[in-house]
Amino acid sequence: VLIENCAELVTLRGAVPRRGRELAELEIIRDGALIVRGGMIAAVGTRKELRRHGFARGARRMDLGGRVVLPGFVDSHTHLVFAACRADEYEKKIAGASYEEIARAGGGIVSSVAKLRAASAKELRARALGFLRRFAEHGTTTLEAKSGYGLDTKSELMTLAVNRELAQSQPLEIVSTFLGAHVVPPEFRGEENGADEYVSLICKEMLPKIAAKKLADFCDVFCDRGAFTVAQARKVLETAQKLGMPSRLHAEQLAHTGATKLAVELGAASADHLEQIDDADIQALAGSNTVATLLPGCSLHLGGEHATHCAPARKLIEAGTIVALATDFNPGTSPTLSMSMILSLACSHLRMTPAEAIAAATINAAYSLQRADHIGSLEVGKSADLAAFDVADYREIPYYFGVNLCSMTMKRGKVIYSRY
Ligand SMILES: [Zn+2]
Repeated sequence: VLIENCAELVTLRGAVPRRGRELAELEIIRDGALIVRGGMIAAVGTRKELRRHGFARGARRMDLGGRVVLPGFVDSHTHLVFAACRADEYEKKIAGASYEEIARAGGGIVSSVAKLRAASAKELRARALGFLRRFAEHGTTTLEAKSGYGLDTKSELMTLAVNRELAQSQPLEIVSTFLGAHVVPPEFRGEENGADEYVSLICKEMLPKIAAKKLADFCDVFCDRGAFTVAQARKVLETAQKLGMPSRLHAEQLAHTGATKLAVELGAASADHLEQIDDADIQALAGSNTVATLLPGCSLHLGGEHATHCAPARKLIEAGTIVALATDFNPGTSPTLSMSMILSLACSHLRMTPAEAIAAATINAAYSLQRADHIGSLEVGKSADLAAFDVADYREIPYYFGVNLCSMTMKRGKVIYSRY
């Protein structure tokens, strides 16, 4: 297929990962075109160049009508599989209850756990499939999906098995992450060392089973006030690393705990949230290959003081940290699957430029998932994953906030969504 008439073909070719000033380098080709063969990108250039290309002869032509084309979004932090929404809590939060108050009253993650344990794999799969269609409609072609609403061996393994079935049965690429250490499950609370006992269960039972069945690409821990301590996170993540699962961390969202420094020390692929980090954390991240994944959807949805206490994106970028953006799609704190909306929030709230936000949502996010060798940019030899938007200038994508301008999504060379 010869795809042509792209007003701007935003290729993102070049440095991997992008740090500092490089983050704004989009490598745009005006009046761009690309040739797709066997699901892969075979050529990239201007329309003029590619019409003369050897592969163009006999190729089917796809005219994108002067739209902007990006690499498909890589959403590197989601909680895809859950059993029910929590719109009731949303209303309580608006009335003034805090996220942590709701959690202490049996709401929050614990309410999602009760519902997931009562659900069947079939129900969870059907619900997630509906969301995956919507991810595709919004231009996302790869997403990471965490477990963490099961919190017992059976339900955690079931969630990861659902991830695997989804990866095999629909077009989006799914990266599976085990987040058994999301919160301490209700049956381990009330005892003084309940959290440590649960950590032992994760290390002695859950992780070896998950490793044996190869059900997870990464292991994550929610290391924060009200969840797990740095020492507990270290135990889980070191055990997982020995079993071949690299680390990710929910770090410094609610309180400053030292989770970011742990992420750097363990060589984690990513440290996510980071609203409460300090200058020493920023320096530590900047000197590492750990990606700082920012989740501005959370700050918006939680509102109140969360809305004004955002992660210091500018400082992170200027220090040379690898910055990525993700939705944190989940039923409690960020129920959005729109990466365009995340770009808008990154620009308006985190003061990232549209170019920086796009690189953070594609190539750097792909790097954090250790898949930048085949996704995240439009370059010869990579998977033909792309999204077309009904605009003539890439800056309009975050500018029209809350509007889905994606009109075509392609994964591995196949159109998986089209509004034409
Ligand atoms: Zn999360």
